[in-house]
Amino acid sequence: MNPDAAPQPADELRRILRRIDGRGYKAYKDIAGAYRLERMTLYIDRVQGDPFAAPSLLRLRLPASIAAIPPALHSNRPRRIALEDFLARAARRAITRITEGRRGSGKSGAVFVDAGGQEVLERTAAVVTPDWVELRIAAGLPAAGRRILGREAAEMLLDELPRVAAALEWNNLPQAEVKTHVECVENQEAVRAALAERNLVAFIADNSILPRESGASDRPLSPRAAVPFTAPDSLRVTIPTPNPVPPPVGDGSPQVTGMGIPRGVTLIVGGGFHGKSTLLEALSHCVYPHVPGDGREYVVTSADAVKIRAEDGRRVENVDISPFISHLPGERDTRAFSTDNASGSTSQAANIIEALEVGTTLLLVDEDTSATNFMVRDARMQALVHKENEPITPFIDRVHELHRNLGVSTILVMGGSGDYFDVADLVIMMREYEPHDVTADARRVASEIPTRRRPEHVHPFSPVRNRIPLPEAFDPSRGRREVKIDVRGTEHIRFGRHDIDLRLVEQIADTSQARAVGYAVHLAATEIMDRKLTLRRVLDTLDAFLDDQGLDALDPFHHGRRHPGDFARPRRYEIAAAINRLRTVRMRQAPPS
Ligand code: ADP
Ligand code: MG
Repeated sequence: MNPDAAPQPADELRRILRRIDGRGYKAYKDIAGAYRLERMTLYIDRVQGDPFAAPSLLRLRLPASIAAIPPALHSNRPRRIALEDFLARAARRAITRITEGRRGSGKSGAVFVDAGGQEVLERTAAVVTPDWVELRIAAGLPAAGRRILGREAAEMLLDELPRVAAALEWNNLPQAEVKTHVECVENQEAVRAALAERNLVAFIADNSILPRESGASDRPLSPRAAVPFTAPDSLRVTIPTPNPVPPPVGDGSPQVTGMGIPRGVTLIVGGGFHGKSTLLEALSHCVYPHVPGDGREYVVTSADAVKIRAEDGRRVENVDISPFISHLPGERDTRAFSTDNASGSTSQAANIIEALEVGTTLLLVDEDTSATNFMVRDARMQALVHKENEPITPFIDRVHELHRNLGVSTILVMGGSGDYFDVADLVIMMREYEPHDVTADARRVASEIPTRRRPEHVHPFSPVRNRIPLPEAFDPSRGRREVKIDVRGTEHIRFGRHDIDLRLVEQIADTSQARAVGYAVHLAATEIMDRKLTLRRVLDTLDAFLDDQGLDALDPFHHGRRHPGDFARPRRYEIAAAINRLRTVRMRQAPPS
């Protein structure tokens, strides 16, 4: 198919389908192309080879004059992303409604759109430009066994799918809901932008619902069971928003009130089961905006926050973990530390250094998922095991310095060790899911009960050594395919023949984001890495490229005009995390700057 060829009349598609009706599935290849329908253009970009293969990829493009969506709803970047997100959700609803009960066997006749979950991410599923609105879908072309069902295909392509796409016309959209969605996302991004100028790293609105339905569900716990969030008076701030904030979070005026967490070292303490980890989890996910009704739609974290945890077994490539770990047994040099099987503490140290390397300014750490010996060594242990025999400089001796020297804040859940009172700027206690500012009490306790521990850091925490990734270490080929990158959920990327284990990389929002991470790694390796650029600069370039070209550019075969596959925009931190976990990766340390 020549993608530049002018669309053919719909009757041409009808004619081809009549001709290939009853023939072997391969004959479906003949329908690839563009067709002019009454109110839109149908692009059949990729036709599956058989009924059991991945479904065919299609696009439906409506001219702006027909979609007639008010330009104000996509007048800036957050608005456009929110609108596109909503359109994909509207298409998903329409698919359920329109194709209900018309399934053949298997995937035959099924239609999919990659709409989002609780997060609102830039994605390829729906695209709005000043000139058109485009819906990207996948469809199983109808078959009986391996025979083409031409009549059913005509019904699907020329009737059902256009009706799905028609759901994106302004007259058919739930207009008030679209507006609420767009305004809510724009508000969240406005609060995020306001954090820095107010010296904050995170914000949690009053009446937010933080707990989730279950460990397996990202939906909010029912309002009957959940205790809404209430800020302590000493930390309460009000932030103006561009649009009204509706109840239960707001009062309909354009502002939102809640708890602001300042830069520095913040400790979240409290008894077990009082909601500490739930609060940190919310902060960790709220680097992305959320849909209205999520309960966390006015929880906003600095966009560069990275959740840090222990991850034993991971590979580490040439990372200078010496700020935390030095003189390992056997004289291993921790200034250029590599291993195929990191321990709890070395993996946690590497996770911090790697996040700093690519620019985070906020670390989120939970005692539940940390290595104990990495977090603290108390006075008794210091007395028994001498520093010469202990390679680890615990986090407690670095966390304050991280802020003072490098401007990197930490929010730390710590119910188990009061030693941290000495290094905290703010102590929040969770009591029955309510936060209390207990900083003054913690200071008093700290002076009344000295820990008697000696700070252990010897060298100051210097800026992190940059590394240069070597492009030849990235091979996405598998079998006959030059580029074969796929995902299993959010947990694994299969990059060529290699598995990238992302099970403990917690801030990947959905499968399409994981897939985009895989393709972003490939794009970075083929188009950006040059054996001289540091990983940090590679990611700067990649971000600028995606900002400029859009997510479609992640598809190596896209060339500007076809269904690029389902992608959601990843952050640089997750792209770096994937690169760092690819077991073939090789990096060279850059000279100190
Ligand atoms: P901690 O880390 O302090 O031990 P968690 O955050 O793991 O506690 O919370 C314990 C339980 O309480 C979880 O099942 C969680 O879903 C629930 N929970 C947390 N916050 C709330 C809340 N605001 N309202 C109701 N239940 C909550
Ligand atoms: Mg916990």
